[in-house]
Amino acid sequence: MSARQQSVPAANPARWGVVPYITAWSSEVTPPYGLVIRNGRLAYVDESPYDRDQAGVLWARMRISPGVGRPQFKNVHYLRQRLAMRKLLCQVCGTPCGKDAVWMLSAQEYQNAEGPWPAPVLTAHPPLCPNCVERSARMCPHLKGGHVVLRASRFAPAAVSGMLYEATPAGLKQLERATIEYGDPWAPWMRASQVHMRLEEYTVLAPGPLA
Ligand SMILES: [Zn+2]
Repeated sequence: MSARQQSVPAANPARWGVVPYITAWSSEVTPPYGLVIRNGRLAYVDESPYDRDQAGVLWARMRISPGVGRPQFKNVHYLRQRLAMRKLLCQVCGTPCGKDAVWMLSAQEYQNAEGPWPAPVLTAHPPLCPNCVERSARMCPHLKGGHVVLRASRFAPAAVSGMLYEATPAGLKQLERATIEYGDPWAPWMRASQVHMRLEEYTVLAPGPLA
């Protein structure tokens, strides 16, 4: 292969196969964008229907080119994370999980449940298919301190994380990163990058080994 050919970024199916579906790649950058206030909420200058989710929240943009460049294991692709939550795709292999979907929470996430067990618990980690549970427990740094595997019978998208903006007399002002519930008065002022699922009813399949 010539040097010229090597310099051309191209998808590498072999590597793509071992990188989790929701992982962002170095080629998947945020393109330049402009924000405005339109109809009393944050909006893109050149907005399209794809820029908002079903609740009308504006989403951060990211190029879509999985397999091109280097995997950024610490970064999640905004759209694939959202699709995995909404369509119950396995966060590792991307397969539709359907009724087999399980949820793997870190011990920390599980302890942050909204009250005593078995209270609802919020997670930004999309589901897993049963085949990917063991691999995920081994590979995901956030699960190293112990984990819990759940099967949920009732759950719904409940919150979004991202950047909050404020309308000021001088124009739009960027505030801070935050997590807010759908329906929150601040929701029209968020540029979201992750959705959180609230697991409302679930059974615990396995507590993981505590480190
Ligand atoms: Zn899987």
